[in-house]
Amino acid sequence: MGLKTSGSNLRVDGEALWADLMETARFGGTPKGGVKRLTLTAEDRQVRDWFVKTCEELGCTVSCDSMGNLFARRPGLDDSLPPITMGSHLDTQPTGGKFDGILGVLGGLAVLRALREAGHVTRHPIELINWTNEEGSRFTPPMMCSGVFAGIFTEQEVLDKRDRAGLRFGDELEAIGYRGGEVCGQHPIAAYFELHIEQGPILEAEELTIGAVAGVQGMRWYEVTVRGRDAHAGSTPMPLRHDALLASAHMIAALAEVARAHAPAVGTVGLIENRPNSNNVVPGETFFTVDIRHPEDHVVAAMEAAFQERFRAIAETGGVDVEIVPIWDAPAVHFDPACVAMVTDAAREAGFAPRSIVSGPGHDAAYVARVAPTAMIFVPCKDGLSHNEEESITQADAQAGANVLLGAILRADAAF
Ligand SMILES: [Zn+2]
Repeated sequence: MGLKTSGSNLRVDGEALWADLMETARFGGTPKGGVKRLTLTAEDRQVRDWFVKTCEELGCTVSCDSMGNLFARRPGLDDSLPPITMGSHLDTQPTGGKFDGILGVLGGLAVLRALREAGHVTRHPIELINWTNEEGSRFTPPMMCSGVFAGIFTEQEVLDKRDRAGLRFGDELEAIGYRGGEVCGQHPIAAYFELHIEQGPILEAEELTIGAVAGVQGMRWYEVTVRGRDAHAGSTPMPLRHDALLASAHMIAALAEVARAHAPAVGTVGLIENRPNSNNVVPGETFFTVDIRHPEDHVVAAMEAAFQERFRAIAETGGVDVEIVPIWDAPAVHFDPACVAMVTDAAREAGFAPRSIVSGPGHDAAYVARVAPTAMIFVPCKDGLSHNEEESITQADAQAGANVLLGAILRADAAF
């Protein structure tokens, strides 16, 4: 660290961060204490207007790209350098909480405030990003505009998406006044850090405060159809049956065995349909979904081969046919080891034992990681609950996460 950029005495204002969380929860606030702030709605415009005004009051200039992604910029000593960035999303699920996504944006705001109040000037510009439509609830798929930024989707395909009411994404973006002039994806980024609630139970169970996220699990989805023959439940002897549901039951159990054999993999059958679904008919056809996940793509591939082999063997024994169709595939993401180390170091400096963790859910950071060095910070949420109006975190954990974000940003400023 040639320049005096360590800033290790800097801390965020936890009270101000909590006040921001509670204030923004009013935009789309629900009677049950949650938030309904679907992307590109009036509530989204309100929270964006608040974001722009608050960032400008902190001395930042705010720019908007063609997908409505917002960049609040605090100048550095050398403004020719690409910015060190942080952020997340301000949109929510229809019955969302106050923290999913929002913590990462307002935690970033707390970092900007801490830098300003300390009069600390970084070498790089520091930017806070709000990504449009992370949730994918009103317009699918999720992580849509970080996806355009990273070149996963084209701008035109996203602009032409329609919600269930038939309204077009591009028109709705124009309508709330956040279709900016900068071409999405043209914005330079030196590094990106995202603070987020864990949305799972691990940190809480281990009584830890900070997760240093190593990456995002690879996942694959399939649709499985098992075909046997409808037959009378009273007159068809057991050896002569072609029972699709019985075979499916063995397959579902086999999938769980395959997942356990590839720990920490997970394998899930979450949806099943049985036909004709009648109490005195041997089932002739079943349909179910398979979801498999593991942090390493080669393990996901091995699980795929293993469960397909098991399913085919079970089908043969049961006298049924099985058809397995892959429908979706998201490769594993490995965050930048140097950025993850910055999170780990910042956590230790702030007095926390960081736990290495792999994210089950996807995040904007998973796409940004394809175009810039990236890492994430997790903090616990009560009972691991998220996408739920009862989603809850403590002020102390919010503050801890933002302090680790601040420490990581300062390390990145010195390193890049
Ligand atoms: Zn989120």
